[in-house]
Amino acid sequence: MADKRDYYEILGVPRTASQEEIKKAYRKLARKYHPDVNPGDPTAEEKFKEINEAYEVLSDEQKKAQYDQFGHAAFDASAFSDYGGTGGFGDFGFDIFGDIFDMFTGGRTTRTRQAGPERGADLQYDLEITLEEAATGIERDIEVFREETCTACGGSGAAPGNSTSTCPTCGGTGELRQERATPFGRMINVTTCLRCGGRGQIITKPCPECNGSGRVRRTRRIHVKVPAGVDTGARLRLAGEGAPGVRGGPPGDLYVFITVKPHKVFERQRDNLYTKVEINIAQAALGAEVDVPTLEGKVKLSIPEGTQSGTRFRLRGKGMPSLRGHGRGDLFVTVVVQTPVNLTIKQRQLLQELAETLGTEDQSREDKGFFKKVRDALGK
Ligand SMILES: [Zn+2]
Ligand SMILES: [Zn+2]
Repeated sequence: MADKRDYYEILGVPRTASQEEIKKAYRKLARKYHPDVNPGDPTAEEKFKEINEAYEVLSDEQKKAQYDQFGHAAFDASAFSDYGGTGGFGDFGFDIFGDIFDMFTGGRTTRTRQAGPERGADLQYDLEITLEEAATGIERDIEVFREETCTACGGSGAAPGNSTSTCPTCGGTGELRQERATPFGRMINVTTCLRCGGRGQIITKPCPECNGSGRVRRTRRIHVKVPAGVDTGARLRLAGEGAPGVRGGPPGDLYVFITVKPHKVFERQRDNLYTKVEINIAQAALGAEVDVPTLEGKVKLSIPEGTQSGTRFRLRGKGMPSLRGHGRGDLFVTVVVQTPVNLTIKQRQLLQELAETLGTEDQSREDKGFFKKVRDALGK
């Protein structure tokens, strides 16, 4: 933007110029630099854009006032349409052409751009795996139903042998030209030939495999490697395994979206796992060795005596592997002390004896926190 020229200078008018003078100057310059008058001259095209931009601002009283006050800073670069076309009018963005329509006596050409190679579409495949599979990583063959380039005809759509000929509609040029006389002169409209799609050739004998489309739908087995440590939402990209490209374009990609099924025993948070084990009041009071599930099977966990319900133990390195390949998360085991039910007569007796020795004082805890406050409130 720094080297942007002054709009008045571009149109060659003084700052005091009237709308009539601005319009007149613009028309004169637009006639001189119009791309149709200067085919293949990039300097003229640049100039033409510049003139149009200047005129768009100076012909609009409001924009002109802003420009007079702030200069180019008044307008964001994006405020202007991009005039960077290669062809005729179809590439230019605003309706100033109502205005310059009348200035051409030569031919005017519009061209519908012919479509070039197009990249194939990306495909999605949803893959559900177990937590165990996510922990170790897996390799699996998945079946993807997708369009592929027909191998029988190599994508041309023509049967083998001499089965194409020059398109009779466009005579092999791939383009159709329509010429008509208008009050403004000769107008030539160039469009891509629909009959041959711009290729200039038509198929006289279509490929029997693909009925001339050049593409077939088939189920394809694809080998997928799921790395250890993946979690729900992970997306694996298999480059080039999507839909085939159009007109020689590259194929799209296949994205495998991973969902890790919920586990019966473990809950996962990033690389850490969480589980619970039940112990009875005797184990909690006296301490015990209990079995704890891990992804690799049972391990022993030592519960110290006097363990409270809800205490959480950490087993380092027993969580999920890190997807980035360094280390593993931890397994957190929460101990839940079960209050016994359906007591036998003997158990009931023993507990009663225990209850008498314990009294109403809670001896198992240190005096602190919430329960101390409760005892204080009860006056104990
Ligand atoms: Zn074919
Ligand atoms: Zn044609």
